Amino acid sequence: MLDAIIIGSGPAGLSAAIYAKRAGLEVIVIEKVYYGTGQVAESSQVDNYLGFAGINGYELGAKFREHAVSLGVEFQSAEVNGLESVDGGWKVQCSNGECLEARAVIYAAGAKHRHLEVEGEDIFAGKGVSYCATCDGAFFKGKDTIVVGGGNTAMDDTLYLSDICSKVYLLHRRKEFRGSARTLERIRQKENIEIVTEAKISKIIGDSTVSGAVLEDGRTIKAEGIFVAVGMIPQTEKIKGIAELDESGYVIADETGKTKAEGFFVAGDVRKKALRQIVTAVSDGANAAVSAAEWLSHVKFHIKEIGE
Ligand code: NAP
Repeated sequence: MLDAIIIGSGPAGLSAAIYAKRAGLEVIVIEKVYYGTGQVAESSQVDNYLGFAGINGYELGAKFREHAVSLGVEFQSAEVNGLESVDGGWKVQCSNGECLEARAVIYAAGAKHRHLEVEGEDIFAGKGVSYCATCDGAFFKGKDTIVVGGGNTAMDDTLYLSDICSKVYLLHRRKEFRGSARTLERIRQKENIEIVTEAKISKIIGDSTVSGAVLEDGRTIKAEGIFVAVGMIPQTEKIKGIAELDESGYVIADETGKTKAEGFFVAGDVRKKALRQIVTAVSDGANAAVSAAEWLSHVKFHIKEIGE
């Protein structure tokens, strides 16, 4: 039986892995996507991670990964199908048919993109509708695009696309933006960005690919690309019934990552908290690994005592 299974290879999972490895634990990281590194890889530019001002997100993710690999952290490429508590630990069933067992689990599965859930969104996904400007922006060189959302992701995506596309519409359902005032100021200074507030898409239209969006007030905005950046949904469906979740599906745990389930720790964006950033994910990973190591030392001591 392993000491710990870490689920997720974003900044939280990788940080947990290096702290666990340095604490002498036998661990494995399970990741859904080979070389995952999570949402950080989708960021064109990260300006607020201490010591790395302006670094490309993919590059930062690669550095995190290299660090973990250099310490001998092992990875398993698979989706987690199910988790169950077994005698003395946890059993994790993977999509590749493997079944892993460990005394502790550090759950750092992150969050997935929220969808608009409007007509045409699913039909045109990958045909003009995208959830990652950094990944798909280059396909829209010289074209008109729409970014939907009012948070930092939508605002960063808008700036990024404005250097590639001929015009970018930033469409937000309210008047006030949730994202940083400084970024909004930079957006306002760009001539090829048009901000459209109090606007909700009712339908995405097109033929074989996207040609525009119809708003609830009846207006149509013509665009060949629609970038949806309306927040994230925590990946906690698989752990319902194991850890306590809040009304939005985030795991309730303090900064130690300890949950109500014995030997089950959480870290990163899946945890209920005020600020979801790379720095808080990295910090969560460290905290969860240290908590898990402490908990394991008690468990091992207890097992030894019973055995004697
Ligand atoms: P977010 O802050 O939750 O913003 C989501 C935006 O989408 C909100 O403006 C929300 O509108 C809008 N929205 C939600 N559902 C919608 C729907 N069905 N239709 C239309 N609009 C909808 O999400 P995020 O921008 O992905 O950011 C997540 C976290 O990462 C935040 O803490 C953010 O600060 C952080 N982040 C930081 C950076 C950076 O510092 N460079 C970059 C990216 C992300 P309302 O405002 O009306 O609710």
